[in-house]
Amino acid sequence: MSLFDLNGRVALVTGGNGGIGLGMARGMAEAGAAIAVAGRNQAKSETAAAELGKLGIKTAVLTVDVTDEAQCRKMVEDTVARLGRLDVLVCNAGINIRKSPQDYSLAEWRQVIDANLTSTFACAQAVYPVMKAAGGGKIINIGSMLSIFGAGFAAAYGASKGGVVQLTKALATGWAKDNIQVNAVLPGWIDTDLTRAAREQIKGLNTMVLMRTPVGRWGVPGDLAGIAVFLASGASDFITGAAIPVDGGYSVQV
Ligand code: NDP
Repeated sequence: MSLFDLNGRVALVTGGNGGIGLGMARGMAEAGAAIAVAGRNQAKSETAAAELGKLGIKTAVLTVDVTDEAQCRKMVEDTVARLGRLDVLVCNAGINIRKSPQDYSLAEWRQVIDANLTSTFACAQAVYPVMKAAGGGKIINIGSMLSIFGAGFAAAYGASKGGVVQLTKALATGWAKDNIQVNAVLPGWIDTDLTRAAREQIKGLNTMVLMRTPVGRWGVPGDLAGIAVFLASGASDFITGAAIPVDGGYSVQV
């Protein structure tokens, strides 16, 4: 199993205190990585870190708003200061504001773009000098089915997640010579706080997801653990700039 071994590695997961981020953190922790859990809600992050710590790994809690560039830089410095190094960055923090395109204020548009896309750029830029100096690293960005498809209720979110895929390709190309692999994961419909809110707001969503997903169920955060370990480990050293769906077949069914 040494191909997937993460012992001695440190992974920083933005939005690692719940949902998909915690599912990915659990996977990497089980493979031996120390985990820095970053989010705004410190109590939630402490609970997540305590759970991860039971797997016998080191953890750190970083209270950060990833829409603030200075806080992103400090988050990276603090990870290195507290856990000794930084090998893997998972840019997972994200939000959605659901409404028809004509109803967004520019402030709401910017809020979603900042939280999902600009934060991914700022976090990646912040880790670059650390990974370059260490001789390499892994960056895993979180896209969406809305990186591929359109939805009338998610113009800003779809634009941000489409942007995450193109940003991933640019970073992968730019930093390949530094041995930094940058890939995106495109989750299908995963049962989390984010989509629980969507189920309440969008009539018929639950039925649509169950009918449209070939495996016939919602994903759970644990479904993202394997791809996190793969993309964080040496097993994926020749994969960069990819956007990999983890979606129960949602994106391949007409
Ligand atoms: P959650 O709402 O459970 O998780 C979102 C996480 O992002 C929380 O941990 C939250 O922590 C953190 N976060 C949000 N804004 C900020 C911010 N400004 N600074 C720091 N942390 C922030 O949702 P999911 O787990 O579902 O979503 C995780 C990612 O996966 C998102 O990027 C989402 O777009 C994406 N995704 C989700 C899908 C799904 O079906 N669930 C499908 C496709 C993509 P805190 O509140 O403490 O800041």
